[in-house]
Amino acid sequence: KNTFNEFTPPVGLEPELKAILRANENPYGPPPLAAKAFQDEVFSGNRYAWKTLNNLINILAEKENVKPEQILMAPGSSDILEKVAMVLFQKGGDVISADPSYMSLINVSKSVGGQWKSYKLLSDSQHDLDAMAAGVDENTKLVYICNPNNPTGSITNAKKLKEFCSKVSEKVPVFVDEAYIELSDNGIKDSMVSLVSEGKDVMIARTFSKIHGMAGLRIGYLVGKEETINKINEITRGGMGITGPSIMAATTSLQNDDFLNMSKTKIAEARAYTKDYLTKKGYKFLPSQTNFIIFEIDMEGKEFLKQIYSKQVGVRAFKFWDKNWCRVSMGTMEEMKLFTAAMDEIFA
Ligand code: PLP
Repeated sequence: KNTFNEFTPPVGLEPELKAILRANENPYGPPPLAAKAFQDEVFSGNRYAWKTLNNLINILAEKENVKPEQILMAPGSSDILEKVAMVLFQKGGDVISADPSYMSLINVSKSVGGQWKSYKLLSDSQHDLDAMAAGVDENTKLVYICNPNNPTGSITNAKKLKEFCSKVSEKVPVFVDEAYIELSDNGIKDSMVSLVSEGKDVMIARTFSKIHGMAGLRIGYLVGKEETINKINEITRGGMGITGPSIMAATTSLQNDDFLNMSKTKIAEARAYTKDYLTKKGYKFLPSQTNFIIFEIDMEGKEFLKQIYSKQVGVRAFKFWDKNWCRVSMGTMEEMKLFTAAMDEIFA
């Protein structure tokens, strides 16, 4: 029933890539001031980083308008997705999400005995919120919403999503993965985080991997109800996996709006260039409000990856809805030009 599938890039070719457009990273990061803070903090590496971690939690709590007890830190939001799945699906149950969506939480849920109940995105690539709400029953343990969604890049209307989260969270917790929210047209204005301060059973995951350009430094966080955070902490000790230097890099990056604005502008430029190219060449692509675009290709994924990697361009291939797709991340303009040149050669 679930058609989602991802092709892994061929091993061995990655180190030679000239255009790294396969993991939705930010080519401009890390912010120089954050990198400096990271370096300086290495010398405090003999100590556990509890003090600096608590300081960062306080800063984030103020930013998100919640109590520090409502924040769980982790080495990237992957860690949060996995921990939430492990804790909530220990006794099985269903996780509801879109198809396709980001698979981390879903895969871990399945591996510990949960079941995936998926709902195809609507024709405008938004979540089918009505169907998802109607699908909640006594077996449902969690609803996972990735907004903007990966691998599609599409965003679901914030007003509708807020109504959905308010209503559905009366029955089951709703997890909103906002890894790309800062890159969307409205930015964090479209975040669901205010529902947490309204007392709803909604969890919001954020990461420093995307707009902050710190994917390799591993830092992310969850905002949720205190009870939920405690439940996860009891089993897994949030925050223990993050290094002190990463904490200082994140703390510094939060005070550096110039970098975030620059990233958003440059990513939008790359997106405009790529959309223009795809339109001119007649490719069908989904509407993106992120740092990646997915479009249909007329070639099986493995073969396509073999060809494009041999041109030192790294992207991802997917198969869903009975179609083959290429997902390309927004790199520098130079990288995007290498990508379009490779596409011209492959589909000459
Ligand atoms: N959530 C989504 C939607 C993602 O696309 C990614 C990474 O690409 C992650 C979470 C995990 O990111 P990280 O673990 O680097 O925070």
